[in-house]
Amino acid sequence: MRDLLPYLKLYKKHWFGLSLGMLLAFATLFASIGLLTLSGWFISAAAVAGLTIARETFNYMLPGAGVRGAAMARTAGRWGERVVSHNATFKLLTDLRIFFFTKLAPLIPGKAVNIRDADMLNRLVADVDAMDHVYLRLVSPIIVGVFGILCLTAILCWFDMTLGLTLGAILMLLLIIWPVVFYRLGSKNGEALTLNKAELRIRTLDWLQGYSELTLFGAESRYRKAIVTAQDKLIANQLVNAKISGMAQGLLILANGWLLILMLWLAADGVGGNQPDPLIALMAFATMASFELLMPIAGAFQYLGQTLTSAKRLNEVILATPEVTFPSEPFAHSNEYSIELEHVCFSYPDANEKALRDVTLSVAAGHRLAIVGQTGSGKSTLLQLISRYWDVDQGKVALAGAQIQDWSEGQLREATSIVSQKVDILNGTLRDNLSMAKPSASDAELIEALDKVDLAHLTDDIGLDAWLGDGGRQLSGGEKRRIGIARALLHNAPILLLDEPTEGLDKKTEQQIMQLFEQHFKGKTVIFITHRLVHLERFDAICLLEDGEVLEYGHHQDLLRQQGRYFELNQTL
Ligand code: ADP
Ligand code: MG
Repeated sequence: MRDLLPYLKLYKKHWFGLSLGMLLAFATLFASIGLLTLSGWFISAAAVAGLTIARETFNYMLPGAGVRGAAMARTAGRWGERVVSHNATFKLLTDLRIFFFTKLAPLIPGKAVNIRDADMLNRLVADVDAMDHVYLRLVSPIIVGVFGILCLTAILCWFDMTLGLTLGAILMLLLIIWPVVFYRLGSKNGEALTLNKAELRIRTLDWLQGYSELTLFGAESRYRKAIVTAQDKLIANQLVNAKISGMAQGLLILANGWLLILMLWLAADGVGGNQPDPLIALMAFATMASFELLMPIAGAFQYLGQTLTSAKRLNEVILATPEVTFPSEPFAHSNEYSIELEHVCFSYPDANEKALRDVTLSVAAGHRLAIVGQTGSGKSTLLQLISRYWDVDQGKVALAGAQIQDWSEGQLREATSIVSQKVDILNGTLRDNLSMAKPSASDAELIEALDKVDLAHLTDDIGLDAWLGDGGRQLSGGEKRRIGIARALLHNAPILLLDEPTEGLDKKTEQQIMQLFEQHFKGKTVIFITHRLVHLERFDAICLLEDGEVLEYGHHQDLLRQQGRYFELNQTL
């Protein structure tokens, strides 16, 4: 149950809507019980009166009005309750999703990468949804049930103490027994159901995303079978669920029947010490109607297992501590955007080998450094440390003379433009994909940036509204890279970090892009990663990384003169 605590806390903000919902639910139930009880009594009393002299004096009007009033109150109350409580729960779920997202974002790229996309999606959608059960199915019916039973008991006691207390005690007992029993019966299945639902989603997305590759390698049917298996498991869980629900309701109706017999038997000699009269009907109908209080609880608690599992899955994300935390306050730094690394050591969380070993580098403000080295030598890792995806294990990273840990996230992102090795294209329009780098940019600016990276043709058909990504035009590797560069142009930050921006481009385009850098990135502090050793003579310094260590460092000409590893690599290319 402790798993639910973080969510119950969110309720505070919406206490008004949620309490109003419960109040209306209570009023509705009361109207509903009142309707059945009053009309039961009214019909029998009227019948009895018809047989006797009392027919002259019997007041048909007042109870008639009461029945009508209760019927209307029930309808209005139910409508009001649905509107209010659903409105409040939807708002709650919105808050919960945002809350979940703000906890999730800082975990990337750290721990959260261990959770697969499809699973994360399932947590964000299905598991968050499951949290509305807590209020709608559990908290609200229990509270309304308890108050309902107390009120009903009090009213019936006014007519007859024994009958009132008997009914109240038995109802209360059922209210305690049903949740406990059916929570136990349903919890294992509910847990399995939540996990199997996630499994089905993961399998289906696997199959969908990899469809063409799976078909080419003849593995499509195997993956499809995995979906069917996951689905069968889920259906089996749902079947058990339905059976338990049916049993919970059936047994409750049975209990109702027996309770009715008991009440009739107790009331048969007359209610409140009087001769037998129509009040017996009132007691009987009150007993029948009282089960409206218990019905919402009947099947609800078998879902508690499901809800708890969802809460646990959400907690895995919500309660995780991020690898990196940023100070919330910006601080004043010099506007000389230099980059320094001192004796930096770093290894990835689950790796045995260090990705970087004792790396010391410095790039003065406005200078340009090229980092070269073979694949896996730690070049991208170095950039990730400068953009604070991770914190160093030892040593120090400083920007503009201040420790990188002092920079607030906004400040850091503002000061750096990154073209990463793998440029992500959002599933959106060309405009969305560019303006993320500069939300205030006008269309003309965006088109100018596209023009600079030679992508103006993308706007040929419908301009910046052209759709990219999954649902639209698929870009080639080179085009994606150029979108990345256009973003960097728009962002226009003083520090520029480029991770193999010309990889996979043909020679001519590479040349163009390099020229572009010359023109537009003047005066900026640049770290340029490449494994292609061309155009490097223009850089202020070159750093050769190997196995996470700085092997050689210096100007192009000097390194060639040394005839070391850089020279060797140059020869082989
Ligand atoms: P480069 O960019 O020079 O090709 P990387 O910096 O990407 O090299 O990788 C350096 C080393 O760190 C490699 O051995 C790589 O396998 C490892 N590595 C990279 N990213 C991760 C990660 N997220 N988790 C664990 N190891 C990683
Ligand atoms: Mg790399």
